[in-house]
Amino acid sequence: MLEVDLQVAQKKLREEEAIVRAELADLGFTADGKVDIHLDEGFADAAQTTSERARVLSLAEGLQQRLEDVQAALGRIDKGTYGKCEACGKDIPPERLEAIPAASLCIVCKSKSKR
Ligand SMILES: [Zn+2]
Repeated sequence: MLEVDLQVAQKKLREEEAIVRAELADLGFTADGKVDIHLDEGFADAAQTTSERARVLSLAEGLQQRLEDVQAALGRIDKGTYGKCEACGKDIPPERLEAIPAASLCIVCKSKSKR
């Protein structure tokens, strides 16, 4: 019987959440996705402003996506649906959850729905 240790998963997710929030804050974004960024400060005079801005925005987008995934996973722990694939409802293999605690899809569904 394969069991997911929810406490371990929750701990990992909370750690991940804290890390992602800190990284977003570093970039000048608030964790709820609001752009609280002052790209003009120290950025504006730089010649690379546009590409730098694009880089930061895409970085932040990725972080916000991660944060959403992590928060969704924490919500699933609360609801007791953690570890179930959101697409097909089958159990996600514990070793996959161990590697990616925020995973919401099993490997089969994930490979079908590349975003
Ligand atoms: Zn699935």
